[in-house]
Amino acid sequence: MAECNDDKCPVHGTISTRGHRTIGNVVSVRAKRTAIVEREAVMRVKKYARYARTKSRIAAHHPDCMDARVGDVVEIQECRKISKTKAWAITKIVSRGEGYLKEGQAKARDEKQVKRKEELAAKEGKAGAST
Ligand SMILES: [Zn+2]
Repeated sequence: MAECNDDKCPVHGTISTRGHRTIGNVVSVRAKRTAIVEREAVMRVKKYARYARTKSRIAAHHPDCMDARVGDVVEIQECRKISKTKAWAITKIVSRGEGYLKEGQAKARDEKQVKRKEELAAKEGKAGAST
């Protein structure tokens, strides 16, 4: 975590952040150095005198030193255009969500999955032998 060779990191790189700052949920970290952050808002619809929920998705730069996972709440800040769709950068992880597993937890989960696979394989082997 201490190492950060990311030139576009708002903390260690040359990108400076300015403009709006907001908080949202991480919904995807599939792309390299990019996270999709979703914001929810409640808006009043005047015509029907009711409220409607709206969502917006923002592509934010996810620097090497930041270990954001799906489900985390992060603070993002506007910066210069980094790519066609990216003009925000993650500046802080506000809280860890369900997607975050500590090292031990991740290991336990993997072991569980391996066990389940073995069980399934054994079952299938049995089924195949009986027929
Ligand atoms: Zn950094």
